[in-house]
Amino acid sequence: ALIVRHRMRSAARWAKAMEIVRELEEKCATPTAKLRQVADAMTVEMHAGLASEEGSMLKMLISYVDNLPTGDEHGLFYALDLGGTNFRVLRVQLGRKEGRVVKQEFTEVSIPPKLMVATSEELFDFIAAELAKFVATEENDFQLTPGRQRELGFTFSFPVMQTSISSGTLIRWTKGFSIDDAVGQDVVAELTKAMEKNGLDMRVAALVFLIIVTAMWTEITMSMQVNDTIGTLAGGRYFNNDVSAAVILGTGTNAAYVERAHAIPKWQGLLPSSGEMVINMEWGNFRSSHLPVTEYDQALDVESLNVGEQIFEKIISGMYLGDIVRRVLCKMAVEATFFGDNVPPKLQVPFILRTPEMSAMHHDTSPDLKVVGDKLKGILGIHYTSLKTRKVVVELCDIVATRGARLAAAGIFGILKKIGKDSVKEGEKKKTVISMDGGLFEHYTAFSQCLESTLKELVGEEVAETIIVEHANDGSGIGAALLAASHSQHLGTD
Ligand code: BGC
Ligand code: MG
Repeated sequence: ALIVRHRMRSAARWAKAMEIVRELEEKCATPTAKLRQVADAMTVEMHAGLASEEGSMLKMLISYVDNLPTGDEHGLFYALDLGGTNFRVLRVQLGRKEGRVVKQEFTEVSIPPKLMVATSEELFDFIAAELAKFVATEENDFQLTPGRQRELGFTFSFPVMQTSISSGTLIRWTKGFSIDDAVGQDVVAELTKAMEKNGLDMRVAALVFLIIVTAMWTEITMSMQVNDTIGTLAGGRYFNNDVSAAVILGTGTNAAYVERAHAIPKWQGLLPSSGEMVINMEWGNFRSSHLPVTEYDQALDVESLNVGEQIFEKIISGMYLGDIVRRVLCKMAVEATFFGDNVPPKLQVPFILRTPEMSAMHHDTSPDLKVVGDKLKGILGIHYTSLKTRKVVVELCDIVATRGARLAAAGIFGILKKIGKDSVKEGEKKKTVISMDGGLFEHYTAFSQCLESTLKELVGEEVAETIIVEHANDGSGIGAALLAASHSQHLGTD
């Protein structure tokens, strides 16, 4: 009887479904004028965050990185990169003559989901153990420059309030991590503790850690801990001198850029000789009344581990896009019996539809949308869909991805405005390069193409010729290692 009562006539069903789609489209609309408002609001918040930490939803964190790689760095480097879903350890041999990256190796493991919500000790133990395993596999075609040590940089892709280049406390977790006892703790200290416990006999002398791994003495200097955006900026600069900002679009999203030191009122220290300071914006936490927010976004936020935080991130980044689509489909199933009389149970499981899967459906070019059909079946247990239905699914992906990409472009435009690169100065030929990284940017082609065309639309034709959006392949790991090198040289350990 229940089923009969809910059974809608096919035409009415379709009309209701289309009403939901049209409403979504309307609410997600990002006309140019709106994007300009978003960019302006971003610029205003950037100023506020540079004035004081409390003054803005944008933390505009001082990275203590005031010198970026020049391309002359050489030696053997290690880097740890804790991202949103993966953890990597890498080893890279950089040479001055041999064409920069001489040899590179890495290992990547996905972070066991239970560690994301466990204790700080468990997470850092896991990291230390992976590092130890990897260091032990170093072969002798990797070479230390005589008199130098192995440098280790640590990329930690979460908001950290740095107190120096080598220390800082975790402000909060993002991207589905929730380990309460780590908040407010010094990330490097936590890692050091874990390394000691993990059988790595370690003596600490200032910032120099001596580690014994499997009977082999391995000297490692860990002098750096940076955000992934800072690593990407540094890695990008190593290869291209015109890089002045970096944007991550992956599980989470964020941006960093080079600011003039005297434009940072909250900076209490000495002005760096370079006159510059790299700022980690933490733009994922941006929020504005100009943002097109829907009921789906609101529900996603309320049910998240970090309610009210990272609103920009929740509209843009890879962790969330697929789930927004799932939420719309779920509403269509409930209110328009879009997938038949019953709501497919799997459709109600949060995060079951991941962004890579959404991307695969969005890019489906087969005439009968076979990929869409397969995904709906395989992931959501929806067995029979008409071509018409599958087309609607693609349209939803397009609406949600387009909104995210266009807003990300507006954010970049905001940065360009802040650093005065939104117009072309007379006789100025210098390019502004933005280093991009993250799985969303790298693999979701429709997203990155939309981002790039939107940025062109915002800056206008003339300026567009001076702006280059460049994929920084693997920048963040190498970047952290490079910064470790230059910092240890500052300390005179070279
Ligand atoms: C974090 C940032 C990070 C970004 C990209 C965000 O959730 O808050 O620190 O840079 O993700 O990984
Ligand atoms: Mg990463």
